[in-house]
This record gives sequence, C-alpha cells and structure tokens, in this order.
Amino acid sequence: MLKRYSITFWATVFVSVVCLSLVGIDVWRSLNARSFLLQDMERLGANVARAMAQQADDTIKAADTALADMVERLETEGQGDKALARLQRQMQAQVANLPQLVGLFVYDENGRWIVNSRGQLSQAYNNADREYFIYHRTHTGRAPHVGEPVISRSSGQWIMPVSRRLDKPDGSFGGVVLATLDIDYFRRYYQGFDIGARGAVGLISNTGVLMLRHPFDGGRIGASMRDSELYRHYAQQSGAARTGSQFFHSSHDGELRLQSFRPLEHYPLFVTAGLSREEMLERWRRDTFTRSIGVVVLAALIGFFGKRLVDQIKRREQAEAELRKARDALETANRTLERQAMQDGLTGLANRRQFDVTLGNEFSRATRQGSTLAFIMIDVDYFKQYNDRYGHSAGDEVLRSISKLIRALTPKRPGDLSARYGGEEIGIVLPNTDIHGAEAVAERIRQAVEKLQLPHSGSPFGHVSLSAGVATITPRRGVHLSSMLVEAADKALYVAKSEGRNRVRLAEP
Ligand code: GH3
Ligand code: MG
Ligand code: MG
Repeated sequence: MLKRYSITFWATVFVSVVCLSLVGIDVWRSLNARSFLLQDMERLGANVARAMAQQADDTIKAADTALADMVERLETEGQGDKALARLQRQMQAQVANLPQLVGLFVYDENGRWIVNSRGQLSQAYNNADREYFIYHRTHTGRAPHVGEPVISRSSGQWIMPVSRRLDKPDGSFGGVVLATLDIDYFRRYYQGFDIGARGAVGLISNTGVLMLRHPFDGGRIGASMRDSELYRHYAQQSGAARTGSQFFHSSHDGELRLQSFRPLEHYPLFVTAGLSREEMLERWRRDTFTRSIGVVVLAALIGFFGKRLVDQIKRREQAEAELRKARDALETANRTLERQAMQDGLTGLANRRQFDVTLGNEFSRATRQGSTLAFIMIDVDYFKQYNDRYGHSAGDEVLRSISKLIRALTPKRPGDLSARYGGEEIGIVLPNTDIHGAEAVAERIRQAVEKLQLPHSGSPFGHVSLSAGVATITPRRGVHLSSMLVEAADKALYVAKSEGRNRVRLAEP
C-alpha cells in the first residue's frame, strides 16, 4: 500500500500535513484563547459586582443605622428643646463621622424640618412633595425606604435619600427622618475599578430607577431602566438567579456588554458591572491577527521550500529513471554487439572467432579431463556450380537453410558448438563425444539435407548435398594441438569428396 505511492507523493502529503497542522493548531489556540478571555471577563465582572454590592450595602447600612437610632430617640424622648438639641449634636457627629452622609434631617408631618445636622437651614424649604415623604405618609411600614435620587435643595448635589417613618404615640404619621447619601461617594468608589474604556457599572433600584452610572452621566440619574433588556431580564429572576451574568445591549449607548448583576443583601437595589465585548475581543483580535500572519508566513515558507524540495526529488527521480533507461539501452546494445561479435550474420551460427575460442577451451578441458573431443567438418557439394546457375543470393539462401537444419539437429549440451568455419564450410565441436556419436550426428545432418531435395541441376545428384569429415581426439598435453583435430577432419572430408561426395567419412584413428 505504502509502496504504491511515490516518495514525491509522500513528501507532498508531509508538507501539506505540516502546513495544515500549523494553521489548524493556530485556529484551535485562537478559539481557545477567545473562550478563556470570555470566561475571564465573566469572572472579572462578577467580582466587580460583588464588591459594588457589598460597598453599597455597607454604605446605606451605616446611614440607616443612624436613622433607626434617631427614630428610637425621637419616639422615646419626645421632641422637647433639650432632647432636640442633644439629637442635633448627635446628628452632626454622625455626619462628620460618615463620609457618605451629606445630611440628616427630621421632618414633621407637614414636611417642615424640625432638626437637621447643619444647625440652620431656611424654613422656606418644604419637602412634603418629595417622593420619600409621600411614601412614608402613605405607608405605615417601619422599614427603611431608599428613594429616587434627587438634586439636593440645600446643597445642589446629587443625593440618594434613605428614610424612615416617624410615628406619633397614637401610631399616626408623625414625620420622616431622612439621611441624604452623596452619590459622588459611590462614584469615587466605582472609579477604582478597571472595567476598560467602554465598560460601565450601575446601581439600580429594584423598581427600575437608575441611581448611579459610571462613567457618570448626570442626565441619566433617576431615569427609568424599565425598558432596558437588562432590567427586564433581572426583574424576571428571583432568589439566587438574581446573581448572574449575560450579554445585553445597553439601553444607554447600544454597546454590547457582558453584564454581571447582583442584588444588595439588605436593600431593594442591585448593581451591574458591564464589560464591553468588543473592547475585550479587540485585543484578542489584534493578538490573533498578528500571530495568524506569523503562522501564515511560516506555513507559506514551509510550503514554498517543501514544494522546491518535492520538485528536487522529482527531478532527481526523473534523472535516475533516465539513467536507468540509458543503462538498460547500453546493456542491450552491449549484448547485441557481443552477439554480433560472436555470431555469423548470414547463417546465425557462431562465427569463426567464437569457433576458435570454443575449440581452444574445449580442447584444454578435454586435455585436463582426458575426455574425447569430436569435430565434424561439413562442406556443401558442387557449390560453386550452384552459385553459377542460381546466383549468389540463392546460394546464400541454401546456406541459411542448411544452417537452420544443423542448428536443429546438433546436440545442445554445454560446449557443443556449430560455427561457420569458412565460406560454405561448417564446423561442429562436440565435447565428450566418441567417433560413432559424432558420425551419427553428421549422418543425421547429411540425410536431412538430402531429404530437403533442394534442386541443383549442376550436381549429379540433382539436389543440394553435403559431405562431412569426422574426427575425434583424446588429447594429451604436449603431444596434441587443436589444429590436428581440424586437419584430421579436413582430411576425412577430402576423402568423402574424392569418394563421390554426399557422404560422411571418418578420420583414421
Ligand atoms: P566441392 O566442394 O564439391 O568440391 O565443389 P565446390 O564448388 O563446392 O568447391 P569449393 O568447396 O571449393 O567451393 C567454394 C565455393 O563456395 C566458392 C564460392 O563460390 C562458394 N561460396 C563460398 N562462400 C559462399 C557464400 O557465402 N555464399 C555463396 N553464395 N557462395 C559461397
Ligand atoms: Mg568449400
Ligand atoms: Mg564445396
């Protein structure tokens, strides 16, 4: 399976996988970083909301404790001059003590102040029209009331009124004790939070009135939040679900923020801490963009050099294939040359050169082994006449036919060799063959040629025939030469010729 594909294929796959992995890992990392960032955002928002809720609770609680104390005194000690003077001193001390307190006031049932923390205040002020005053006049409950923020008539600053009802001994409405909290006190605290340039925090009443927003926007204080997504969501929740976080579009500036909201523990208010999603993601986008460029450049470089590498491998493979082809061609040419060098072109038999080499080798072997080496010398009869009558190329054709027969009829043991010895003379070397075996081969060839019945009007037989001389030798070193074997066969051939041709003759032993 692996072998089916080339090295270039695998190199390409490798480079592609590396590039894709780089990009894939980067995408995965970026998405991970994004979700971590959003989680961090949620945690940060929740922490800010918790701190804000705690601070608001504590701030209001301190003022409310002072109010509860004042109510208790007024109701037990009455409103005599001495009692009021003592109360006034105590109120002054409280205001000096609590930085969030702007003032403490006591109003009678008609909305005129009886005593306040400042000592003197124009009697012209009547606060019977204030929301908190109307609330207590119409509600008998003794719980503290956090009113809507207003601009103080006495100091001109934004304040948050916290109030309690005063009862007369008969239980009827006896007035209101009021603490005014400095909105700016909260704002200064909220400034300490790092919520980004586009973040916003707020303190909102459970009835949907915006008490304070940071960044500060005086025009929004006291505004209704009832139509905002955030408030509508919060108002639907109850219990533990009132603490949570969710993305909302701001009703104020349209910004999409992750809003963490949380109720105050003791007062009907809740806080929200909103972090801008865009602002948070902007940094992530910048980081991701920078890193992605790096990764893309890296992947491109790897791809570029990978491609060059693959091309190089491809070129080398091509060069190797061409070399292999050239080598194969050379080998084929060599074999052809070799064959041509050893073969006779006309007859396809071995040529004289190979004959000489083989005869020499076989003669040496026979000398070493003490075996008998046979040799047949064949010569076509009346061949000159054949050429004269039928033409030289017809003569060539006859030589080819005879050679084909000889190839078919000679043994094919190793060392056997049929060769074109001279013009129309053919020599056959037969190692390990005695005179009778060689004679049988020669006779078989002669008969086969006779059977061919190739017409030859110049021959007394009327067809092409051949004569053969057969000789054997069991050569001994220093005594015999290979030429002696050839001469003996030649002599026997001469005998065959002189005895009338178309016959086989054996050399004298
Ligand atoms: P014989 O052998 O029967 O005594 O008579 P011959 O006519 O065959 O005499 P010899 O063996 O001396 O013949 C040699 C002739 O063979 C000479 C030449 O015309 C012919 N010859 C030799 N080589 C070739 C060849 O390659 N092609 C053709 N067509 N003829 C050849
Ligand atoms: Mg001859
Ligand atoms: Mg001849």
